[in-house]
Amino acid sequence: LAFLLVVTGCSNNAENTAQVDDKLISDPNKVFIGFLLDTLQEERWYKDKELFEGEVDKLGGRVKTLAANGLDDVQFKQAELLIEEGVDVLVVVPHDAEVSAAIVDLAHEAGVKVISYDRLIKNAQVDYYVSFDNVKVGELQAAEIVKNKSVGQFAYIGGAESDNNAVLFRQGAMNVLQPLIDNGDIRLVFDQYTDGWDPAIAEQNMVQALKANGNQIDAVVAANDGTAGGVINALSTVGLAGKIPVSGQDAELAGVQRVVEGTQTMTIYKSINQLAAQAAEMAVKVAKGEDIATDGAVNNGEVDVPSILLAPIAVTKDNVRETVIKDGYLKEEEVYKK
Ligand code: BGC
Repeated sequence: LAFLLVVTGCSNNAENTAQVDDKLISDPNKVFIGFLLDTLQEERWYKDKELFEGEVDKLGGRVKTLAANGLDDVQFKQAELLIEEGVDVLVVVPHDAEVSAAIVDLAHEAGVKVISYDRLIKNAQVDYYVSFDNVKVGELQAAEIVKNKSVGQFAYIGGAESDNNAVLFRQGAMNVLQPLIDNGDIRLVFDQYTDGWDPAIAEQNMVQALKANGNQIDAVVAANDGTAGGVINALSTVGLAGKIPVSGQDAELAGVQRVVEGTQTMTIYKSINQLAAQAAEMAVKVAKGEDIATDGAVNNGEVDVPSILLAPIAVTKDNVRETVIKDGYLKEEEVYKK
């Protein structure tokens, strides 16, 4: 605190301020963590940023966060920049699971360890991985849809295929749907990933699914709340919104509002609080060269990456209060606004 007061006291003096900044950067007791986000398109990533920065701060470290707007070359350049600035650890939400392997190589050349955050970087010597059980996410989504509709024509509206999570969500959903497809109860009449997780593309895909099937779609498994929003827009133009079950993920405010209104059947609540806290603790320990406790390992095509996988929770209109609201993730008055 005394140090900060001194800084404030001479803040008019540009020269002193510059020296103070240098001192902070090179402070050997303060670990420096680089946080690379793919995107800020979905509401959740703002929470990831804020919570991760807050947790690292509590642990006595400092963070610089950069977001790549869904561009691989931008993400690589941001990694380069943070390494040049002297980060001790890079925590990365990769845009593309495969392309981002180059970031791991670059970091390792500079002696910087890499933690894969939420999404796994594939085919690289990733040091650690912190995420949720993403196959389970897909299973919970499909299970809730099947609870509402277990026969008929289904559509799968996935995430971005370049995101390993999108592949795992689909895999989980298929674990539930495949037996019902095999016994003839369900016909999967549309099955598409969504470029860049873009809700507008999800909407176009859903329009196409409806057209191709004369509007005879009985249920939609959508991979997250963003894509679900696109799907529900398309359904509303043909009078099907609220008439057929649709899944989602992230417990975004708009998603949970739709769950409460009844146009979306469910969402998935993933505690970003827990994810950010685990990742921050791990990052600070890695920076200090301390031992890390993990739960297991996930193979990324090249190595078994020591991992922590947290549990996702299915949210329907019956448990909104006991989950997202109880945890303070969303506020009661914003969810039940009408
Ligand atoms: C995350 C989801 C998110 C999606 C789009 C996935 O990797 O796990 O929570 O909705 O990316 O950003």
